[in-house]
Amino acid sequence: MKSIPVPVNMVPLSSPPPPGEGSLELTSAALPLEEAWGQGVKTNLLGLNRKAMEDYFRSIGDKPFRAVQLLQWIHQRGVDDFNAMTNLSKPLRAYLAEHSEIRPPEIVLAQEASDGVRKWVLQVDANNRIETVFIPEEGRGTLCVSSQVGCALECSFCSTAQQGFNRNLSVAEIIGQLWVAQRELGEGRRVTNVVLMGMGEPLLNFNHVVAATELMMDDFTYGLSKRRVTLSTSGVVPALDRLAEVSDVSLAVSLHAPDDTLRNELVPINRKYPIKELLAACKRYIGKESRRKVTIEYVLLEGVNDSPAHARALAKLLANVPSKVNLIPFNPFPNSRYRCSSPETILRFSEIVQQAGLITTTRKTRGVDIDAACGQLVGRVNDKSKRHFRLQAIA
Ligand code: SAH
Repeated sequence: MKSIPVPVNMVPLSSPPPPGEGSLELTSAALPLEEAWGQGVKTNLLGLNRKAMEDYFRSIGDKPFRAVQLLQWIHQRGVDDFNAMTNLSKPLRAYLAEHSEIRPPEIVLAQEASDGVRKWVLQVDANNRIETVFIPEEGRGTLCVSSQVGCALECSFCSTAQQGFNRNLSVAEIIGQLWVAQRELGEGRRVTNVVLMGMGEPLLNFNHVVAATELMMDDFTYGLSKRRVTLSTSGVVPALDRLAEVSDVSLAVSLHAPDDTLRNELVPINRKYPIKELLAACKRYIGKESRRKVTIEYVLLEGVNDSPAHARALAKLLANVPSKVNLIPFNPFPNSRYRCSSPETILRFSEIVQQAGLITTTRKTRGVDIDAACGQLVGRVNDKSKRHFRLQAIA
């Protein structure tokens, strides 16, 4: 295991309150002028998608086609120095250097697990850090990307929930995770797939997440196809419908329970958007594309949601939903009240769902020796709410 340790800074932040249940915000900021043009702050070009980049060049009296040149330099070549952009005139390079910047999140810790999983802890501002994880597999490399610092949704089995919600990530901070990972991986390995399954609820940072996924899929940047960019949501139904209008990324839904009583407990947003509404929204998202399927994520918690009866109920529930099931062995974390189901239980559960005709895969737990496993991202680094310590004190 390679690791570059850095001191951990746990400074409490004064930040806006998390969106409460009654006020689930679907948008957070006007897009993508978030980088505050013309206010004496340099524009971070890393966060501009094609349209925003064209607008930027128009706004400085230049040609919109420059956008493509910039996107290629930044995202295809990993360049952050305007001087290296040799197909731009010297005066334009000088202007850009004075008024704009290409500023990725800063790497504060880089680790590589024995199974090749790589993890980067990234500093996004003085008080906030996020994590990005690269999972190499035969013929592909998946990057697990965060969309928020912390999370407001309080799913009972998730370690991110323990730290509370700090803030939304900007477009630059979301796409910056891919930019940094690709640059660190070098020529040898490519990110072929992105999953928005790191910290946060992507649909509660709607505009920034959509713009960042557009950047991932642009032919002049990373050129990832819609099958290779997956947004995972706990089920913010109105935002899911909005997503269908503006995006066609692949969809994963964190279901975790086959009935509302249990799901209310595990994924509290279910009280607002129950299973029936969520699955109807999934079907609307898939629309008429016959070959598309929603990935249903189901974390297996010993004695809670892992019985043969649960498996049968799940299969019945999904009978009319174009879906495939991804079973996730629970990753324990300090003070969690759950345990992972046994391999035999997971196998039995998987067989029942499979025999009902659903494509079923079981996620391998990777990167365990560097805490890069699912649901464990950054918990101990960024415990802003100090809930972790409060819990420890009670235990
Ligand atoms: N908020 C989004 C995306 C982040 S969570 C969502 O809920 O989908 C990404 C996936 O990791 C989800 O399926 C989540 O349920 C799962 N997860 C969270 N904590 C976990 C844990 N401790 N063990 C295994 N999976 C976990």
